[in-house]
This record gives sequence, structure tokens and C-alpha cells, in this order.
Amino acid sequence: MTPTMQHKISLEDAARDALVTPTYAARGLVGAAPKYHIAQQGMLPQVAYQIIHDELRLDGYSLLNLATFVTTWMEPEASKLMAETFDKNMIDKDEYPQTAEIEKRCVNIISRLWNSPDHEHAVGTSTIGSSEAAMLGGMALKWRWREQRKAAGQPTDKPNLVMGANVQVCWHKFVKYWDIEPREVTCEGDRFTLSPDEAVKLIDENTIGVVGVMGSTFDGRYEPIKALNDRLDQFQNDTGLDVPIHVDAASGGFVAPFLQPDIEWDFRLPRVVSINASGHKYGLVYPGVGWIIWRDRPHLPEDLVFHVTYLGGDMTDFSINFSRPGSQVVAQYYNLIRLGFEGYRKIQQTCQNVAMYTAEKIAALGPFELITNGSDIPVFCWKIKDAVAQTANWTLYDLADKLRERGWLVPAYPMPPNRSDLVVQRIVVKEDFSHDLADQLLDDMQRALDYFESQPGHKPKTDGSHFHH
Ligand SMILES: *Cc1c(COP(=O)(O)O)cnc(C)c1O
Repeated sequence: MTPTMQHKISLEDAARDALVTPTYAARGLVGAAPKYHIAQQGMLPQVAYQIIHDELRLDGYSLLNLATFVTTWMEPEASKLMAETFDKNMIDKDEYPQTAEIEKRCVNIISRLWNSPDHEHAVGTSTIGSSEAAMLGGMALKWRWREQRKAAGQPTDKPNLVMGANVQVCWHKFVKYWDIEPREVTCEGDRFTLSPDEAVKLIDENTIGVVGVMGSTFDGRYEPIKALNDRLDQFQNDTGLDVPIHVDAASGGFVAPFLQPDIEWDFRLPRVVSINASGHKYGLVYPGVGWIIWRDRPHLPEDLVFHVTYLGGDMTDFSINFSRPGSQVVAQYYNLIRLGFEGYRKIQQTCQNVAMYTAEKIAALGPFELITNGSDIPVFCWKIKDAVAQTANWTLYDLADKLRERGWLVPAYPMPPNRSDLVVQRIVVKEDFSHDLADQLLDDMQRALDYFESQPGHKPKTDGSHFHH
């Protein structure tokens, strides 16, 4: 564990009994505010507000945060609605039946976007994000596998999950928390995503499912879900094993339906039993809201579902959290009705245009080679050309640092195991990253390159603080 995870107070801090003592506090504050223990007396709301407001200015500026997938801007009307609904607890479906109804509408709308075969009876829920949604999807896979094994009188003590080495950390958590053996398809050469042929080599009778990713966090690529589906059909013919797919569409779930409607990755494919997405990524809502939809009722084991009374009716609940704000779900619904299909399509198309434009311009700077160009989700990454890297006095880590001086957060990090020799830099284009800002960034990149050239003694940095994985 890193010290930050333990919220550790250093000895130095303790020694000077760390105090927050802003000078202007003299106007309204009688005492100092201790940092690490609760003060005996409180302070005026305006003073508390000002202290925290000012302190938070030290955070990165979210507009320039090209590392995050998470929404950094919403319309004022959405913010207003959210402020009006902070007090509603999502779990209190009986007290807030209309919030519950709005969640249900979102589940139905999203299940239609993903071509659910029975969207009249859509089965799904909102969550705090894709990580919780992935847990729920993974648990359903494990429960179903176990029921089938038990029914067949087979042992159930060694479940495994097949996935690409490029999966997001939530899947590493899932297998650890639920005691499942991870079986990872490693990267190979220029392949940084799951290959269906390699995936089936890892499958046996203990495989609870295969995870496919629509929008790999490493490079923004879609995994070939249709090819995986078809390969698993052939595999079932050969072996008799019927293996389901869960699609982690954290970012692609709100991109592909609008930009690439012809790509078959969702419930159109018979093996896709559940799909998750983050409402707070390309669903365009502030964090945290996620969604999970199951293909149909049988794919969500009844044993996992809790029943709560809802206005005399029966409302199902399958979640890890209990209390959770209703505001994010309300904001999701706001976006869905405010933007409509065409609104989402235009925004995602604009993001993609900006991503592909920026990618092309970065390639034109000279020293870089694109790994992806933003044509799947509006996310792309690049490396330094091999020939350039051999003699350069800088690395992508240096470039990330240099850009950070101007406020840009553009992370550099190694690719997944087996290709971790390859360091890339990535940009996630969101709605608030305009063409104009892209041009500013390109100027700053050129300036950084000029700087390195002017510093022959500069020592290349070989490791970075990988903000994001
Ligand atoms: C972001 C992401 C996650 C985690 O989603 P959260 O909503 O942040 O919990 C999982 N999988 C993929 C592919 C992601 O991009």
C-alpha cells in the first residue's frame, strides 16, 4: 500500500501540528483549523468555504485533463438538477418513487441502444460506475456457471475468467475479490487487445465467461466482439462448452451506438449476456454513475437479487452499495432527453473529429508514430518512432512533465504485460476539448520539442508517475 492510500500523516506534519491558517481568516476566524484532527470549535460557513475552495485550486484544471475519461463539463441546467437532487438516496425507492421511475426509464433507453432482445422487460440497474457494474456482471457469470456445474454434479471450486491483459483494473479487482482465477490473453507484437483464437486456448469447463472490451483504456481500440462470438460458437461445436461474453463497454457503450451502429458488439450477438458502461464517461454525466444491462431475466440469477417494496409493488435491487445519490441518475436522464439520439451523435462525432484531427497533427510533428487515431472511441495514443527514440535526449515521460508545466495532463505509461517495453502517451477527447484547445496543445508540444532540442545535456527520464492506470 502506498502512503496516500492509508492517508498517512508524516512525522513532520504531526510535529508541527499542522494547521490551516490562511491570513484572511483573521476577518472571520477566531482560531486556526487543524488539518488532521477535528477542531474543538467550528467556523463561519463563508470562511470554511473559502479555505477549501482556495485549497482545491491546487488540483489540476479539469478542462486540461486529457488523461481522464470522466466528464468534466455539463450544462448549467444539469448542474442545477443535480443540486436539487443531492438529497435523494437512490436506494429509497419507496420514498422517491419518481427517481426510481427515472432510473427504470434510463435502463430501458440504454437497453434499446444496445439492442436488447426484450427491452420491454429490460433487466439492469444503475451503479456508482463501471467498476461496480463489472462486479455485478462478473458475479452473475460466476453464479450461473456454478448453478450449471452443481446441476451436473461437477465441482465448483476453481472458476476462471478469460480476458485480455489490457482490461481495466476493475477486472483485476473482480477476480481477486471473488476468488476467481484470471486467465489473460497477453499482448503480442502490435496486438494490444484480446484475440479470439488466443482466448479460446485459455478456456476450459471452469471458465465462467470471457470479457470483451469496447474501448480499451490503453489505446482506445474496440475488441473484436463479433469475431469472439463466432469463435466461441465454433469452440462449442468442437468441445460442447457454451461460454458467455460480458462486454465492458465503459466508454464504447455510449459511443458505438451513435458513431458505429453497424459494428455488432452488443445484444445482437447471442453470446453477449451482459454489458456495462460508465454514464460518467461518454454518457456525459459527472461522476459517478454506471449502468449494467443483462440480456434477459434468466441471465441474472434470482439468488443475487434482493426484493424491496416499492409503492406496494415489487422492486428488485442488485448492488454492492446501499446508499447512493440520486442526482447522477437524474443527470443521466436529463442528458438522454435533452440531447436525444441526434444530440449524442453530434457530440460524439465532434469528439471523434477533434481526436482524429489532433492525432494526425501529432503524427505530423515528426518524432511520433500513432498506435491508434481515435476512430473507435475518441481516444488515441502514440509512441516515439523507434529510430528517434534511440538518440533522443527525452522520452514521453519528459514530454508529459513538460506539458504539465502548461497545465496539460497527458499521461505516458507502458502498455500491458508482454509489451510493457512500449511506452505510449494518450489523449481522451471529451466534449470540452475544442479544436482551438487542440491547436494550443499542439503548439505547446512543438515548444516542448524545441526545448529538448535546445538542451543537449538533457537526460531522458525512464519512468513516470503513471497517473491513470
Ligand atoms: C473506466 C473504465 C472502467 C472503470 O469504470 P469506472 O466507471 O471508472 O468505475 C472499466 N473498464 C473500462 C474499459 C474503462 O474504461
